[in-house]
Order: sequence, then C-alpha cells, then structure tokens
Amino acid sequence: MSAPLSCVMPTYGRLPVALAEGRGCRVWDTQGQEYLDALAGIAVNTLGHGHPRFVAALQDQVAKLIHTSNYYQVPLQERLAAKLVELSGLTNVFFCNSGLEANEGALKIARKFGHQRGFEQPETMVFEGAFHGRSLATLSATANPKIQDGFAPLVPGFVRAPLNDLAAVERLLDAHPQISAIFLETIQGEGGINPARIEFLQGLRRLCDARNLLLMLDEVQCGIGRTGKWFAHQWAGIQPDVMPLAKGLGSGVPVGAIVCGPRAAGVLTAGNHGTTFGGNPLAMRAGVETLAIMEADGLCAHASAMGERLRTALQTGLAGVEGVKDIRGQGLMLGIELSRPCGVLLTRALESRLLISVTAERVVRLLPPLIVSSAEIDEIANRLIPLIRAFCAEGA
Ligand SMILES: *Cc1c(COP(=O)(O)O)cnc(C)c1O
Repeated sequence: MSAPLSCVMPTYGRLPVALAEGRGCRVWDTQGQEYLDALAGIAVNTLGHGHPRFVAALQDQVAKLIHTSNYYQVPLQERLAAKLVELSGLTNVFFCNSGLEANEGALKIARKFGHQRGFEQPETMVFEGAFHGRSLATLSATANPKIQDGFAPLVPGFVRAPLNDLAAVERLLDAHPQISAIFLETIQGEGGINPARIEFLQGLRRLCDARNLLLMLDEVQCGIGRTGKWFAHQWAGIQPDVMPLAKGLGSGVPVGAIVCGPRAAGVLTAGNHGTTFGGNPLAMRAGVETLAIMEADGLCAHASAMGERLRTALQTGLAGVEGVKDIRGQGLMLGIELSRPCGVLLTRALESRLLISVTAERVVRLLPPLIVSSAEIDEIANRLIPLIRAFCAEGA
C-alpha cells in the first residue's frame, strides 16, 4: 500500500494510524480500533480525552468568546495567573502558546537581567541532554546535535554544563562571569527522563542566590502535576526565579506560561515582549478548568500513586531482564532505558494497541493522562512488559 501524496510538510516520522476519537485513556482510530493511551499526546492530555467537565467548559467558552486581543483586559488571564501564583509560590505570569515560546521568553528575561546587571554579553548556562524547543534560540539551548544540524549559525551566549555536577557548574560560573541565568529541565524529558537530583537543584538555588543569577526551571513536560506535585522542583523544596510551562497546562488546548518570582517578574516591561494569541480566553479557560479539575479530583496525589504502581509493576515484570538498564522518573513520567536503540517498539506497541514513546533512542517513555485508573496502569504494564522482554531476548 503506497502512502497517499501529502500536502503536509514531511517534518515528522509518523506512525500509520489516524486517531479519531477518545474517552478517558482510550482512543479509537479511523478504522474503529481501540488503543490504550500511555502517552497523552506527549504529556499534554492531563485529563485524558473527552473529560465531561472539561468539554462542557470549553463548549461554553467557545460560544462566549474565543479570542480578543491583549489590547484589552482579559479577566481569565488574571484567574489563571492567580492560580499559578498560588500553586507555585511565585508572583507573576506571562501567557503564550507553547513550550518553546515560554522558553524563548525565559531566555529574553535572562538576557535583559544580565544587561541590567551591567553585563555586555550576558550568557545562559544550559545542560548536556537538554531539550528546550525548536526555535533558533531554544534549539541553540538544546543539546541534541540532530536538532541543531543544518541551522547554523546558532544563537550565541550559551555555556553548557554536565547535569548533576555541581562542582563543574561552579567552575564554569567562575570561568564565565557574564552568566546571568542557569536554565534546565527539572526532569529532562526528550533527553531520556533524566532527573536533576534534589541536592543538585538545592545547590543550584544556593549558587544563584549567592551570585545573583536567575534559576530558570523548564517544567514544560514535568510540570502540572505529572510527577505527583504541582511542579517537579517542589520535591526539592526550592523555588525557581523563572518557570516556563506548557504541555499539560491546557489539557490539549495550546497554553504556555512563564511563571516568575520577584527577582525576574519585573525584568520585562511594556513593549519588551508580546504575542497575538497568548492568553486568549479559550486558552485561559482551558488552563483554569484543567487546574480546577485537577484540584477537585486530587490528581497530583493520584499521579503519585499511579506512578508508584506503574514503576513497581515494571520493576517486577522486568526484573533480571538483560538489556533493561534502568527504570527511572517520578510519578507518571517514567523511562525504561534499554541497552540498544528501541524505536521499533513504537510500532510493536501500536500492534499491541498501546500508545507510548521512545526518546533518546533507547528510552521507552511513559506519560499517561493523570486520570489513569489502577486497572489501566496494570493494563499498560501487561501490554508493555512482554514487548520489552521479547525485544531484549532478540538482542541477547
Ligand atoms: C516539549 C518541550 C518543549 C517544547 O515545547 P513545544 O510546545 O513543543 O514548543 C520545551 N521544553 C521541554 C522540557 C519540553 O518537553
């Protein structure tokens, strides 16, 4: 069967399936075939698919007002910002539409903060294994050469450090006195589910305080309850100065946000930054409703419990399997690192009616909707474990 000619640019390696409908953690393709969703559109569909309260709120909002402009007051922006401030303990929010946009804004804050400190060429510290997006600045901050190849000249002003190596960070800060911000994912997603260790995060916080630098934590993937706390850095008991968010915030409606604390919130002023779509009423309603439902249904604690259940099932089911190097992550953001590239598991999982992802070539990544039930967790494990065992047996 030859693929039909496509008018869409060939920027993605797509699986041969088109999804037509969803309910909770189940989705159906155009042929009526059912799948279990352990990907949530890459950590986006916080509430799964077709959540009744969420759907009703969006329908109500679509009929009222979808978009106006940031020429005017947008009361729903105030509501979502106040909620994000309450949950994070930070102070102010800028709204945009995606993860890279939130990161791009964060990088602008870092630059301007540096200029305010008198640096002529401010630099930002970024990390090995990082993924921050695909705009020119965010792909320059990203560590993956595959994402950068073909797009030189990259945006200058980035200094790269190894993750979880505080001594190396200190040495690089000494060597680069114009670094104005340290920028990292609290848990690296695309890089293979690599958590920044708690002591490392606490050490970075101390260094940023001592040297008057911005600590900027990209929680685009790991934020919004996914790890069992509202924000992943809360496991370390610290606060960032700047926190870009997106993915799970709108449960499928594009919403991005830059949440800032007192050191960063006043850096951008009128005329410094803006976006046409950012913070429009539909997006804001999606954010407000997502957080309200998460709170009402206790979805952070639920994500924690379901994550523990999934991790235990994987650890038990994959115990002693040669070729399984590590099972790691937090809450419902889990990675299974194998000893060789395992992209083929995407298709095999699809044949087993399971939606997953493979990242960093050899890490099976699980990011189910936060509403996933214990029966569905068991089903994810029961479908995935035999696939991984068979794959590892082939490589042995
Ligand atoms: C997905 C992701 C981004 C980019 O978000 P987009 O919405 O795809 O632009 C940035 N940072 C992290 C940590 C991500 O996971």
